[in-house]
Amino acid sequence: MGDASATNIKVVCRFRPLNSAEVARGDKYIPKFQGEDCVVLGGKPFYFDQVFRSNTTQVEFYNAVAQKIVKDVLEGYNGTIFAYGQTSSGKTHTMEGKLHDPEMMGIIPRIVQDIFNHIYSMDENLEFHIKVSYFEIYLDKIKDLLDITKTNLSVHEDKNRVPYVKGSTERFVCTPEEVMEAIDEGKSNRHVAFTNMNADSSRSHSIFIINIKQENTQTDQKMTGKLYLVDLAGSEKVGKTGAEGTVLDEAKMINKSLSALGNVISALAEGSTYVPYRDSKMTRILQDSLGGNCRTTMVICCSPSEFNDVETRSTLLFGQRAK
Ligand code: ADP
Ligand code: MG
Repeated sequence: MGDASATNIKVVCRFRPLNSAEVARGDKYIPKFQGEDCVVLGGKPFYFDQVFRSNTTQVEFYNAVAQKIVKDVLEGYNGTIFAYGQTSSGKTHTMEGKLHDPEMMGIIPRIVQDIFNHIYSMDENLEFHIKVSYFEIYLDKIKDLLDITKTNLSVHEDKNRVPYVKGSTERFVCTPEEVMEAIDEGKSNRHVAFTNMNADSSRSHSIFIINIKQENTQTDQKMTGKLYLVDLAGSEKVGKTGAEGTVLDEAKMINKSLSALGNVISALAEGSTYVPYRDSKMTRILQDSLGGNCRTTMVICCSPSEFNDVETRSTLLFGQRAK
């Protein structure tokens, strides 16, 4: 048996296709794939648990990467799925896709469907209580996407020293439709807020949380599993020249929180005794769903165009730190 904390962290890599502008420009398609788990960029091989090529469909990706985690959460485990990569590399396509399109929807709506399908088919002595929360972290402030009046929530610890976001909205839901309504509402709040600021939501992290409590009405046994679904801010470096004011602040905060995340993941992967959860708000919020018995999956999203060569290499290196 290997170290459980190490085997519970998976890193997969997904390349999107060249988009129409890149094709029109005649961009070169640079990754070369070897087998199921290796991509070669500029002569250097990068290994992951699995590498997904540009033609991978949404359902194929879901079945290979996310389906299993639904079962785990219903068995009482906590889990986290992250999408990491530069802006326009396919993070939102992977996490959300087209939310109401059966073919093009990403892993979040598929997870929602799957959770309810499992529940409908389970023992009728089980009673389920499902609640969802939806936040974003922008400029190091936690904003509640289900209640726009809550714009700067703080992280506290409960009596078991488990961190939680104090005062955040927890919405109880009974059907997949209600979950999707909460997501639509949160996304629309997010969009309005960024449009009003004349800013770009790809500079913030979004975190969607599904908490499932089940109670056996005959035996009184209770069990809770929680799933964090995280669409990270774009990982691209902001050019040193020209960046000032908010853009520079955004870049600094994103850089800081992504490196904190990288440090936590690599400490967990190495099985090190000290894990620096406290270094960022995001890693604190996620603390009880990362490492240990938790199921953690990092999706490394990449562009295949020669023009993104440098960013893609740095994205692949970030993913390798967790291995
Ligand atoms: P990000 O969230 O990383 O900024 P998006 O997910 O918004 O990037 O992707 C940018 C564009 O590329 C979108 O129009 C999206 O639909 C498209 N895209 C991303 N990944 C894929 C993919 N694997 N297959 C087809 N189109 C994709
Ligand atoms: Mg996005």
